[in-house]
Amino acid sequence: MFIDARTLADGATLEADVCVAGAGAAGMTIALDLRAAGLSVVLLESGGPERVDETQVLSEGRMIGIDTWNIRAMRIRALGGTTGHWAGWCRPLTPQDFEARDYVNLSGWPIKYSDLLPFYRRACQTVEIGEFDWNSAARAKATGRPLLPVSANIDQRYYQFSPPTRFSRVYAAALEQAADVRVLTFANVRDIRLNQQRGRVESFDGRTLEGTTFHVHAGRYVLALGGIENARVLLASRSQQPEGVANGHGNVGRYFMEHPHYYGSVGVVHPAALDLSFYRRAPSDLKRSDGTPVEVLGALGLAADVSRSEKLLNFSATFQGVGAGRPPSGKAQSDAIPSSTAQELLMRGGGESGATELTVRSEQSPFRDSRVTLTDDLDPLGMPRVALDWRIAPEDDVRMRRAMVVLARELGAAGIARTWVPGDSSRFVWRQDPGGHHMGATRMGTNPSVSVVNADSRTHEVDNLYITGGSVFTTGGDSNPTLTIVALAHRLADTLKRATASPKKGA
Ligand SMILES: Cc1cc2nc3c(=O)[nH]c(=O)nc-3n(C[C@H](O)[C@H](O)[C@H](O)COP(=O)(O)OP(=O)(O)OC[C@H]3O[C@@H](n4cnc5c(N)ncnc54)[C@H](O)[C@@H]3O)c2cc1C
Repeated sequence: MFIDARTLADGATLEADVCVAGAGAAGMTIALDLRAAGLSVVLLESGGPERVDETQVLSEGRMIGIDTWNIRAMRIRALGGTTGHWAGWCRPLTPQDFEARDYVNLSGWPIKYSDLLPFYRRACQTVEIGEFDWNSAARAKATGRPLLPVSANIDQRYYQFSPPTRFSRVYAAALEQAADVRVLTFANVRDIRLNQQRGRVESFDGRTLEGTTFHVHAGRYVLALGGIENARVLLASRSQQPEGVANGHGNVGRYFMEHPHYYGSVGVVHPAALDLSFYRRAPSDLKRSDGTPVEVLGALGLAADVSRSEKLLNFSATFQGVGAGRPPSGKAQSDAIPSSTAQELLMRGGGESGATELTVRSEQSPFRDSRVTLTDDLDPLGMPRVALDWRIAPEDDVRMRRAMVVLARELGAAGIARTWVPGDSSRFVWRQDPGGHHMGATRMGTNPSVSVVNADSRTHEVDNLYITGGSVFTTGGDSNPTLTIVALAHRLADTLKRATASPKKGA
């Protein structure tokens, strides 16, 4: 059922077995899974059914590091969260992304790819891409679009596209009908109150923009506020401890990661007749549950053993100029590459050549100085606004350029193309377009001195407080994060069901 928090009596108290804060991709997935599980659930959502300026202003913040996108416009404060405008690109992380790599700072998730696999299967249904099936050879065969004849050093991969699922439109009705789920709209979590020993949450305290206050008491609590707000609310909950909640080691907000996108910085000269159709976004043989085809888009990465032996970060490269997708900023996509680059490439390639560019989506390594912090500015609820100091470790740029050189070598050796990585410096040409992938600021790990949550997504310091979303990613791989966010949410819902042995509050 839905309740407008503005209609509550001031100071109202609600009780539940589980309280989930944030009704975006992650929060709605958990609430849907907990339906009919014998548990009572309160889902707190800052916004209402539609995105409006009055609530959107709560996402305002400052960018003090790499300045690429507007954090107010990117993060939607309404039911369904940022899925209100996500673009639907889906790919799971690779098994290698979960492994410890001695050359990537703090890499190695405390869970394995195989642990997440059953939940990836459920996540595919949730984001409406059908079965979990990521077999490039099978896709190429079924669609009659050939893979490039490269060596086994190249990992042929592809994206699948969600419609994209707008979680509010697709799932709000199911939550509205669920007798055991109360969805409070216009309900902002402002403070996490702990018990005297500071080891358990006693309440999530909230407020509407109109000033109505409320308190939710639950057995277990989940923060699902998005990759930046999860950290913000923990840091801002300092009514009992100056460092905030779950922040005894000063890790909350640190290790913030994005997916650096390098647009059009790698030119490829190839025979004009080269068949790149698999690398163009097009319908495939995969089907959604309603029978409509799922679109796929081929991409190239490096095989895990090559990546490991060369000590490189993960990346995926798609071809621009063959209809292979475009930057999420909505910049017009052209079938031609920028003229100066095209001219140079074609001069090198000769008369029978075609030219295109690669868009590279990269992993970044966890970097302690990259972080979400609080400012002295207050939002209309009286909460400190965030400053996002996004940084990339200097060695990451070097590694990514090296990765392109390895890719170029492979394309050349296969006789497919000559590849042009501009400049002798270590830097790519990085066009500043939005990624909108917010990861790492409450990272998962076994060691509390460099992580915030454990393998169950439970905070190391507060027994009944869980966090979910991109902020718990240990490392981010290069895949768009939402499929993994939804898989982690399904996994956490199962954990909560198991942990909440009694349907009553407590334990
Ligand atoms: C332009 C754009 C394009 C994108 N395209 C893709 C893509 O193609 N593929 C992909 O994988 N990902 C994409 N993403 C990222 C994707 O949108 C996010 O990964 C996903 O929405 C995160 O889900 P979430 O539930 O963690 O957070 P959100 O969806 O942001 O949900 C968080 C919810 O918490 C609520 N909230 C926040 N603070 C409070 C508070 N104090 N109290 C109560 N409620 C609160 C918010 O209102 C919101 O409803 C894109 C992002 C952007 C910006």
